[in-house]
Amino acid sequence: MAANAEHDLLIESVATTEDGDHERFTHIVLEGYTPKDGDFVALGNSVVEGMINATPVTALCGKVWVPSRDPQKYPLCPTCREVAISLGWSLPS
Ligand SMILES: [Zn+2]
Repeated sequence: MAANAEHDLLIESVATTEDGDHERFTHIVLEGYTPKDGDFVALGNSVVEGMINATPVTALCGKVWVPSRDPQKYPLCPTCREVAISLGWSLPS
């Protein structure tokens, strides 16, 4: 059995909605992965849980914030995008 089986990464992109400024981006949050023969392994806080329980999540770029529901779309955070590309992930559209 291969120790380094491929993983399905679960990535959530979330818009930050801080008050008053220019820093409005959609960030990418890596929540965890599902091994081929196993259950989902969490690497960080769930975005959905963060929305419900007000627990902070960490984006690929290192930004930590409490996610909130927001119908608006913001441009993808350039740092998150770079990290995702460098890791060879396919980006959410
Ligand atoms: Zn980001």
